Amino acid sequence: MRRELVVATNNAHKVREFTRLFPGVRLLTPSDLGVAFDFEENGSTYLDNALGKARHLFSMIGRPVLADDSGLEVQGLGGEPGIRSSRYGSQPGGPKLNDADRCRLLLAKAEALPDRSCFFVCCIALVIEEPRFFTAQEICRGTLAHEPRGSGGFGYDPIVFLPERGRTVAELSDREKDRLSHRGRAARRVRALWRRGLA
Ligand code: IMP
Repeated sequence: MRRELVVATNNAHKVREFTRLFPGVRLLTPSDLGVAFDFEENGSTYLDNALGKARHLFSMIGRPVLADDSGLEVQGLGGEPGIRSSRYGSQPGGPKLNDADRCRLLLAKAEALPDRSCFFVCCIALVIEEPRFFTAQEICRGTLAHEPRGSGGFGYDPIVFLPERGRTVAELSDREKDRLSHRGRAARRVRALWRRGLA
């Protein structure tokens, strides 16, 4: 029987990435199950948020759940936007800025930075059943570009430059992004743990 996981997200980009990163696994979303899922990400770490999301959805549906929490940290800005990456530039409880506006805002704040080092972080939590779960947190290092480039990926991908590739993350193919990205690395670790856990 084909394995199934329910992904605790309403972000279509993340669902597409997880579909590539968990080959052979049927991924369902809360809306596929007719479940209205909303989780307030107010943890102080990526792990709190990822595990909190996964456990909350598990408590609603009682089936294995995959969740992630991710963000971009710019070292010269004290780790901003960090855990608040998706809400960067918006008021608490207010509407979120779109991806392009958040990229513009971050580039403006970073304009005079001598050190443009940054990294993406992704923490993945896979809840099998309560209280069994696997987690992994990984990063992808780069530098902040001076202007957006590329049309692939999502979020901050057009402004994160990978010096060893000579391109931004948004200029990589899906395959390249999966190989190098924070989410790709964390997904492979969780997949390996899951395989061992099932054996
Ligand atoms: P969350 O994990 O839903 O809290 O969202 C994290 C935010 O970080 C996203 O909305 C994106 O703006 C950003 N982010 C996370 N992963 C990526 C990525 O792979 N590429 C670009 N931006 C990302």
